[in-house]
Amino acid sequence: MADRSWIVFFATFFSLIGVLNASAGDSDPEYRACVGQCEKTGCVADKCFQHCRFSSDGVPVDGPWYMQEPLYLRWKQWDCQSDCRYHCMVNREKEREIAGYKPVKYHGKWPFKRVFGLQEPASVAFSALNLAVQFHGWVSFFILLYYKLPLRQNKKTYYEYTGLWHIYGLLSMNSWFWSAFFHSRDVDLTESLDYSSAVALLGYTLILAIIRTFNVRDEATRVMVSAPLIAFVTTHILYLNFYQFDYGWNMKVCIVMGVAQLLLWAVWAGITRHPSRWKLWVVVLGGGLAMLLEIYDFPPYWEYLDAHALWHASTIPLSYLWWSFIRDDAEYRTMNLVKKAK
Ligand SMILES: [Zn+2]
Repeated sequence: MADRSWIVFFATFFSLIGVLNASAGDSDPEYRACVGQCEKTGCVADKCFQHCRFSSDGVPVDGPWYMQEPLYLRWKQWDCQSDCRYHCMVNREKEREIAGYKPVKYHGKWPFKRVFGLQEPASVAFSALNLAVQFHGWVSFFILLYYKLPLRQNKKTYYEYTGLWHIYGLLSMNSWFWSAFFHSRDVDLTESLDYSSAVALLGYTLILAIIRTFNVRDEATRVMVSAPLIAFVTTHILYLNFYQFDYGWNMKVCIVMGVAQLLLWAVWAGITRHPSRWKLWVVVLGGGLAMLLEIYDFPPYWEYLDAHALWHASTIPLSYLWWSFIRDDAEYRTMNLVKKAK
């Protein structure tokens, strides 16, 4: 069984090389010129957007006083920027198609058709479902621990990883919330929030994987393990947001952190006698395959369903099984500890 995880590991590692040209579209000078022009004039070719209608001193042309404040102006600029980017992308893609080029990504995403103002409806729907599954998993974990399993005399749980999984639940719900937000409206702010919370979640799950697979129960050791990782992830998030939003580099960081935790769980599932280890196997293999979707990125089918949306879809059943494993683990450890205490 352990051989298979190596295959996943190598397949993932070598396809890393293919990710280097992650976002070719937005570095295209013609696209850049188009967006720059559009943000000044509010028009792309003969299409003009009312979101871009500013008077010369930067104050919106109409509307009551409270809508003329900077916040409103910022929203307008965001709307203007997103309209400009969208229409410049559509035009540029048309030109490229005529010239016989394949579609390229813009700002980390394939050129999509908008539906009801949602940029990527499939990804929004799948993100919302992921959020629901995470919420369900977290609530049922809570009910199991505090209402079904025995508690210690001080009302604390026997399970040593309760707090860690609670934080996991919160971070993953946060991450899916911003993912749904970002896929419905792609502006710099929603993009930063989505990427930052995804990186934070991935870094945290790596820490969790180390602590759980090595069975680290001592507080000092837990701090020692997590401190350097927290420092690295924080620096990475600050780098992305305040220095350079580098998609290629971010992708590499995410793949390394993702593969590392998949390997940890895979090796642990191979040697542990845990009664629910088969669930781990399914999640690890499924997670590895799902990660390939994110890496072997293909342009959207029928203009809606791309690899990224499928990747969000695939994590729905995996998250369900994952929480089921966490509940099994809580029950298994609690029962062992209760037996020992007697
Ligand atoms: Zn996404």
